[in-house]
Amino acid sequence: MPDPAIRTGSGAELPQVGFGVWQVPDDEVAAAVQTAIESGYRLVDTAQGYANERGTGAGIHRAGVDRSDLFVTTKLDAGTFGYDDIRRAFDASLEQLGLDHVDAYLIHWPRPAIGRTVETWEALRRIRDDGQIRAIGVCNFEPHHLREIVDATGEAPELNQIELHPWLPQNHLRAEHARLGIVTQAWSPLASGALLDHPVVVGIAAAIGAEPAQVILAWHRARGDAFVVKSVTPARIRSNLAAGDIRLSDDQLAALDGLACGRRTGPHPDEF
Ligand code: NDP
Repeated sequence: MPDPAIRTGSGAELPQVGFGVWQVPDDEVAAAVQTAIESGYRLVDTAQGYANERGTGAGIHRAGVDRSDLFVTTKLDAGTFGYDDIRRAFDASLEQLGLDHVDAYLIHWPRPAIGRTVETWEALRRIRDDGQIRAIGVCNFEPHHLREIVDATGEAPELNQIELHPWLPQNHLRAEHARLGIVTQAWSPLASGALLDHPVVVGIAAAIGAEPAQVILAWHRARGDAFVVKSVTPARIRSNLAAGDIRLSDDQLAALDGLACGRRTGPHPDEF
């Protein structure tokens, strides 16, 4: 099944399924990214903080797919302030990726203890207006973080990448996104693997002859959220994409909805 595109407020289209590279060392990531793109992924998600933009860029180039067919995301770490320094951080990301633009540039965490979120958002808007970013957005923003930048600048992020999986369906935040025209993109869609041996997931997988990861990714697809899934294992890279062929019944989707308990694998954005 072709990967459905999700449209951001400015009209940029991103694939629903993305390939994430958090915790993949720089000297190993190129092979994983190349395999992912050759398998059919068209969105690659890295970050300044992952310290693997150079290898990610190498994998993108080795795969040899037309740049205009790819959606490449990277993220700005906390601790860089002011347009000039943020511009330098962005230029360094581009240089390491070996690209002349990215499709999405995101603020990685709101970091409320540091503050200066509005100033950082203003800098991203300026860099976007310089022409080397298609869509600007954020990660890990709660409704009150979103309100802060919307109230100050009148512009909502085009996407918010958040921890989201059956334990943490984030329905309140998704409703806020819908109201503000923000695309929801799930990180750790498999709860970093922790949900894969849950009896409900395993039971559905056995019933339909699929892998547990495919069951969870089919749940994300059915909800219509974008997501970025990570694997360094070629067979898993391919089978995660093949989850697009799986349709869960209403009862199966409801059973997965029933796992919601607020459990996170990462920190709460107000405490990090
Ligand atoms: P995922 O939920 O994608 O799970 C990845 C883990 O599951 C890995 O251990 C992987 O193992 C395993 N796995 C993947 N597919 C399968 C499969 N088919 N069968 C069995 N095991 C499988 O977790 P991540 O935490 O990596 O999140 C995905 C991406 O989200 C990140 O890479 C990053 O791009 C993004 N992210 C963004 C954050 C943010 O703050 N914006 C924070 C965290 C993540 P293996 O690799 O060994 O195959």
